[in-house]
Amino acid sequence: MDRRRFLGTAGLGLTVLSGALGRVADHRPKLTILQTNDTHSRIDPFPMDGSRNQGLGGIARRKVLVDRIRDREEHTLLVDSGDMFQGTPYYNLYGGEVEIEAMNRVGYDVATVGNHEFDNGIAGLEKTMPLARFEWVSSNLDWSGAKSLAPLVKPWTIREIGPFKVGLFGVLCELKGMVASHNHVGVIYLDPVESARRSVAELKARGCNLIVCLSHMGYRTRYEGEQMRDDRFPAQVEGIDLVLGGHSHTFLDDLVALPRKGGGVTRVTQQGWAGMRLGRVEVRLERGDGLAMRQDPLVVA
Ligand SMILES: [Zn+2]
Repeated sequence: MDRRRFLGTAGLGLTVLSGALGRVADHRPKLTILQTNDTHSRIDPFPMDGSRNQGLGGIARRKVLVDRIRDREEHTLLVDSGDMFQGTPYYNLYGGEVEIEAMNRVGYDVATVGNHEFDNGIAGLEKTMPLARFEWVSSNLDWSGAKSLAPLVKPWTIREIGPFKVGLFGVLCELKGMVASHNHVGVIYLDPVESARRSVAELKARGCNLIVCLSHMGYRTRYEGEQMRDDRFPAQVEGIDLVLGGHSHTFLDDLVALPRKGGGVTRVTQQGWAGMRLGRVEVRLERGDGLAMRQDPLVVA
């Protein structure tokens, strides 16, 4: 049983283990951010059919892991980086209601909109988005032509958790080539860099000490013509501390630290797809306004 598998099955084994090794307790304030992306209607674990992913994932196990972490950690946040829809018959049969209700029960705080959320068009979103008991953020979509949805999606939101004032905003990949035009009638795509700059400025002005981007742009994506990607974004937008990505289904085992515009680094990660992995990033506030981060994702098995 390798270490990650152990962590997944034994839940918070790491915490117990590090205590047993007599590591000095770290008293800096800590926020644990849990993340999924591209869960793609995978309510059940992959079937035991001899395939590579057999037995992995499943919303019930995800909830068990999230609950355990919330029991132990004082400050937590659970987010999703988009594409919760499409991929199994649950979506074809129920149009996304099952996915949203499952996320409600796991207790998500904030999610961004992925391209597959549009697969049943605006009418499909009108049936599903209002069911969410979590917040939707997307900074580079203008919903003013889709009147019933406009009040449901904000460019950004702020969560005050202990000493953390967390500013979260969303960005989405180009709609062109990704979403059929008849499926996003009334929703206009805005430049992600400009939109992100505006959100970061507003979040900074409100005193956020941690800026998190929920990105559905992809990391080193293979899609031709897509100009913006998570690995290029930090060089163009100042002030983002952490990008929790999606879209390219990339498993990043460690946080990728990229130099950011205006100095400092932006850390980027992504948790593959299908809910096989629950991302866990621990952020600690340091003296001054510094942030220390480490990633330790959990295998959902
Ligand atoms: Zn996507």
